[in-house]
Amino acid sequence: MDTQRVESLISSINSKKGMNLTDLSDFIDAVAKRSIENELIVKWLKAVHSNGISGEETTRLTRGMMESGAVLEWDDNTRVVDKHSTGGVGDKMSLILAPALAACGLKVPMLAGRGLGHTGGTIDKLESIPGFNCSLNPEEMKKQVMKLGCCIAAQNDAIAPADGLLYAIRDVTNTIDSIPLITASIISKKAAEGLGSLVLDVKCGSAAFMKTRDDAEELAISMVSAAKGLGINATAQITQMDYPIGRYIGNSLEVMGSIEVLQGRGSKDTRELVVLQGSALLQQSKITKNMQSGIEMMNHVLDNGTALQYFEEMCVLQGVDKDIAKELIQSPKSILPKSKYITDISAIGSGYVSEIDSMVLAGIARSHGAGRFALEDLIVPEIGFEIIVTRGQYLNQGDNWVRVHHNDALTDQQTSSLNSTLTLKSIREKGKSRLIKNIL
Ligand code: URA
Repeated sequence: MDTQRVESLISSINSKKGMNLTDLSDFIDAVAKRSIENELIVKWLKAVHSNGISGEETTRLTRGMMESGAVLEWDDNTRVVDKHSTGGVGDKMSLILAPALAACGLKVPMLAGRGLGHTGGTIDKLESIPGFNCSLNPEEMKKQVMKLGCCIAAQNDAIAPADGLLYAIRDVTNTIDSIPLITASIISKKAAEGLGSLVLDVKCGSAAFMKTRDDAEELAISMVSAAKGLGINATAQITQMDYPIGRYIGNSLEVMGSIEVLQGRGSKDTRELVVLQGSALLQQSKITKNMQSGIEMMNHVLDNGTALQYFEEMCVLQGVDKDIAKELIQSPKSILPKSKYITDISAIGSGYVSEIDSMVLAGIARSHGAGRFALEDLIVPEIGFEIIVTRGQYLNQGDNWVRVHHNDALTDQQTSSLNSTLTLKSIREKGKSRLIKNIL
């Protein structure tokens, strides 16, 4: 594609005339082939970031990015499903959802990412299991899904390579926060899995990327519409992300929390989200008639141990030694990496547990190695927090509320932030569902 055609594409965005869709497809094709100068790509990204583009253009962009790499093909994709979450603190749902849905008869070729900013990533969590291999190519993903029903693999260059380059450039040109660009980036990778159905968990609140409900809804509507435009039966759930999800924050700790839910116990809110996402997908792929029967099916596979067996088998197929996988699902603590120190922090006042600032906990965990600041940073899997109280519980001054798993000493500032991050109230608030709204 010559420079003049790219310049004319950019001026049609800037003048809000709308892009010629064939030119847009050719542009993405050229980006994937690395035949356009980065300078022009930056100009195009900035035009989209400043002016926005239409829903039709977003769908065309998404399709172009999906078609820039391998697309998994299935004889019948009605039962091929996945979910995407926009990221939260303690958000470990994928580790539970993929095997639970496979246990319900669905196929889940899940591509997942590493941690982004303050949020943890599914791949970093799984890699805290000794031997777990997330580097599957598209053929390996398909083979495992045909055999077991699920796999969880890291995004790689074979899938939507145009997104790889665009994302890297967005990251350094302040063009990440654009709804059409986020939509195309996320949906192109999910669509490349050859899905029949998709559920999107769009988080909203103080510890989400989308802080307000309006922004979360706008992103959810844009992603659902682009996915539908590519023939995927998609829905979104807007969910609250302020208080941490579940009891654990940190990579190996979240694997432990996931196994607890797969064992039929674990934290209620983690299970609630997994069951909601799973039942939406069971309904969308017509395995169940309504949400209620999907909820029952999800509860059944979590309670009777079949989801846990699928998780064990997924670990084995993805490189974990059989005996280690067996021990992991029975006694995760004995297998997962452990920190040098565990420090309990106690409440400095009394009252009912009302708020815990997820951003503060995520920030401290990240600075001790649970997350990255630069691409090349290595994750320290054992770092994190264990929240040992539940929302609404009464605490007396001096009662412990959080356990810090760390290898280096906590600074005075970190200890003082932890002390002020817990909000206790004199009145017990009623527990609420995290689900705010469904977008169909
Ligand atoms: N995650 C992605 O994969 N892409 C984005 O643009 C934002 C989050």
